[in-house]
Amino acid sequence: MSQRNLIVKATELTTIRLICKTKECGATVEVPTERMDRAFVHLECPVCKTVLRSPPADDCFLQLARVLRDIQQIKGIDVEFVLPAPE
Ligand SMILES: [Zn+2]
Repeated sequence: MSQRNLIVKATELTTIRLICKTKECGATVEVPTERMDRAFVHLECPVCKTVLRSPPADDCFLQLARVLRDIQQIKGIDVEFVLPAPE
């Protein structure tokens, strides 16, 4: 039995979703990837108001923003992510 996969091009990664894990809140925040380097410096959950990130936050989202931008601009290579498709 083969597993179906979902192929997502790097250029199609346009939105990142964060899910609040505070006290089973589960609220989601979606941000365009092109703005995530700025959007996550200070981040407060819109539902439970927990401060999820505040300066000086680590720069993992800044690094992710740079990597996504860079791999979308590689000449001669299309980068795709292979995800298990929901059944
Ligand atoms: Zn929350």
